[in-house]
Amino acid sequence: MSRPNPFRQKYVCFGCTYSSYSKHTLLNHMRKHTDEDLERDMQLAINQQISKEIYARLTRLQMKLDMIAQAICKEEGSTEAFAPANDLESFLERDQSMSGNSGFDRVKNSLNNIGGDRVRIFVFNSLRQILSDEVAVLYSLSGKVSAGYPVVKRKFADTNQFKALMKCCNQRFPESNVQEVRSAVSDWLNQAKTRLERKRHEEQ
Ligand SMILES: [Zn+2]
Repeated sequence: MSRPNPFRQKYVCFGCTYSSYSKHTLLNHMRKHTDEDLERDMQLAINQQISKEIYARLTRLQMKLDMIAQAICKEEGSTEAFAPANDLESFLERDQSMSGNSGFDRVKNSLNNIGGDRVRIFVFNSLRQILSDEVAVLYSLSGKVSAGYPVVKRKFADTNQFKALMKCCNQRFPESNVQEVRSAVSDWLNQAKTRLERKRHEEQ
């Protein structure tokens, strides 16, 4: 730090260009910096703690809601509508069972019991109840075909379970749009591979 005026700039601040001839004045000045920093750091720490807390509470609440929803379904004797399909066969089987109105409504009503106060969360929770990641990796929203192979990815948008989910979202979140739901579904399906890899990694 250059001090063109050795008297007026006897003491200089570390934090800015402020300088003073009096040590006391400078110390008072510098306290302003430390107070600001401290307050900012504390606010940051408090915010992070609150976010963490809120996230943890929401997760616990979500789990409770799912459990309640499952219990209700059990009472109504419609558990099979909620058990995630663990293989393609059982996924297709349930989809087939939904071709009639009553089968379709049964699954749709079951989905209605699933927790989630935002479209995206609700979609994720629902998909988790509909199919396992092992089945989800076989699907993408719009499907994918490649020369030489009959199907690379199956088209989820063609399934009755997707249609039921769309209907549910439409009723529960009238302000949401189709694209919002579709992109949430698409993201969840695309992330299935990563979730499986993570799970395998954790199991090792
Ligand atoms: Zn300063």
